[in-house]
Amino acid sequence: MRFVPLGVRGSTPAPGPEFVRYGGHTSCVAVYADGEDVPGLLLDAGTGLRMLPTLLAGEPFTGRIVLSHLHWDHMQGLPFCPSVDNPRARVSLYVPVDSPDTDPEALLARGFSPPNFPIGPDGLLGEWQFCPLLTGAIDDTVTVGPVAHKGGNAFGIRVSLDGAVLAYLPDHALHDETSSADRADAESLVAGADVLLHDGQFVAAEHPVARDYGHASIETVLDFADQCDVGELVLTHHGPARTDDQLDELATQFEHTPQGRPVRFAKQNTSIEVTPRAAVQGRRRVG
Ligand SMILES: [Zn+2]
Ligand SMILES: [Zn+2]
Repeated sequence: MRFVPLGVRGSTPAPGPEFVRYGGHTSCVAVYADGEDVPGLLLDAGTGLRMLPTLLAGEPFTGRIVLSHLHWDHMQGLPFCPSVDNPRARVSLYVPVDSPDTDPEALLARGFSPPNFPIGPDGLLGEWQFCPLLTGAIDDTVTVGPVAHKGGNAFGIRVSLDGAVLAYLPDHALHDETSSADRADAESLVAGADVLLHDGQFVAAEHPVARDYGHASIETVLDFADQCDVGELVLTHHGPARTDDQLDELATQFEHTPQGRPVRFAKQNTSIEVTPRAAVQGRRRVG
């Protein structure tokens, strides 16, 4: 499996010359199974979704989009991507709901219909299926579990494909005050993942803001990656004001977790392999 982050910003897009190398689009990740030329699974649909046509050679998208939660930065790309808003697109969109009785399309429409937006979800071209997303497995590939955040239901997503595991927690209130129950939920979702793609919006010195916004501080994420025995940590959902130079500085400061796991900072449109560690290191995985 491999993935391409199409948007690595948190909260709101970051246009301008200071944000070119890491990229300014908000959360969206394209996941490829081994041997696939085009992605069949997308995680989140922030403005990064607008980059999808470059991966599909202009063809419409067929596959699934799983939303971690419904904050604007994770769904705002839906009506602006010609690969999914397309008469020949076939999309199953998984919308986090808090009860099996909730209509996922109606929930999405609360922020995505007049007067907030000119059209509702039913105005998207193509064949759309709006599926409720609740804790648990969608199928053998995708499992979601609750993560602490702020302002509504938020999920982390675990993708198991080709014998490898990617865990994606873009918005995670992980800091000193996170309850042990919330932490245990997140740990069980992430345990043993080969790559953890995680919220890296703040650093410890910004803790009061991280706490108020329901986000992580990088220092805490490094410990979390060790506790969960992940293979590699990739930080994403970068602060929208964090310039390329500042991210380079952070990348130099945080090259490894305390136990020596590699850490990198996601860049828009840069592919990352998710390889089973057993295959890489010839050792049994601890999970
Ligand atoms: Zn977000
Ligand atoms: Zn959020």
